[in-house]
Amino acid sequence: MMHTSKQAILWKPLKEQKVQCLACCQFCLIEDGGRGFCGVRQNTRGELFTLVGDNVAAMNVDPVEKKPLFHFMPGSMTLSLGTMGCNFSCSFCQNYTLSQPPKEHQFRQGQPVTPEQLVSTAREYRAGSISYTYSEPTVFIELVLETARLARENKLKNIIVSNGFQSPDCLKEMDGLIDAANIDLKAYTEDFYQNQCKSRLKPVLDNLVKIREMGWWLEVTTLIIPGLNDSTRELKDMAGFIKNNLGAHTPWHISRFHPTFNLTDRQSTPVETIEEAWHTGKEAGLEYVYTGNIPGHDGENTTCPGCGEIVVSRLGFQLRSVNLDKGACAGCGRKIAGYKMSRA
Ligand code: SF4
Ligand code: SF4
Repeated sequence: MMHTSKQAILWKPLKEQKVQCLACCQFCLIEDGGRGFCGVRQNTRGELFTLVGDNVAAMNVDPVEKKPLFHFMPGSMTLSLGTMGCNFSCSFCQNYTLSQPPKEHQFRQGQPVTPEQLVSTAREYRAGSISYTYSEPTVFIELVLETARLARENKLKNIIVSNGFQSPDCLKEMDGLIDAANIDLKAYTEDFYQNQCKSRLKPVLDNLVKIREMGWWLEVTTLIIPGLNDSTRELKDMAGFIKNNLGAHTPWHISRFHPTFNLTDRQSTPVETIEEAWHTGKEAGLEYVYTGNIPGHDGENTTCPGCGEIVVSRLGFQLRSVNLDKGACAGCGRKIAGYKMSRA
């Protein structure tokens, strides 16, 4: 199998040509000739290489609402790209054809790209930003950083859509380059993260707090799965964590699960469960709570936390109407949290 490789960042050499990857909180110890858990970072004779530093496996121009980001340059387009590989193994992964094959050494070569090509494609399609998404940007951090630097120089914003499992050093590398993030809070138990994702909850919670401190625009997404993370207790815990640690203005996207990949033993999430979660978020004091994967649902709209009027009406990922004046509710004047809301 042919693929190119570039020297990776964020690793350290150990004895006997072993290395430790320091890009994410898996902190893989990798023997000479071996690969990390994500399957796209390889030890060759005591040095770590990335197999996805210069090729993408998926690329599209989407509304930024699709990430989902509802409070960041609403109505703008974003160039979305991702490579093969992920540092999680979620049983319910919707992008499993991208995220999982490298773990089995089934490495489908993506399309070769350079940061220059990505930036010029974004400009050609009049995108306002570049989104590193689909699989997990942490495992292609080298391409993220190189592209994000160039994007910045060209006045484009940078967005990550991530599981939030970066190492502290990896987050530091991205600080100053990333403008907005949608981070999954997949559940509120270590059990779920261990059994359903082969990862851990604690680093994700820590990173959410760090990202808030670093000042990126932050939205949070939770996929609600029947019987796994949909108890009233757990929903309250997640809403409470967001409110108390990230702030009431943090948008929370509660999304409907459909059976896929290794999780086909249960039905799609009932719409009532998503509505209950929506109410739980509101009751916890969150100002912006959204339903996801139910096109046409009222929960896609932004209501003003001041007067309750609809200030941004959406249908799926499209804006229907906008009732904002310079980023504030046109009715009562309350500022609506976000970045460049006024352009909507
Ligand atoms: S990015 Fe994470 S999963 Fe991949 S090799 Fe590094 S530590 Fe392991
Ligand atoms: S973190 Fe996302 S891309 Fe990675 S396995 Fe989980 S659902 Fe799939």
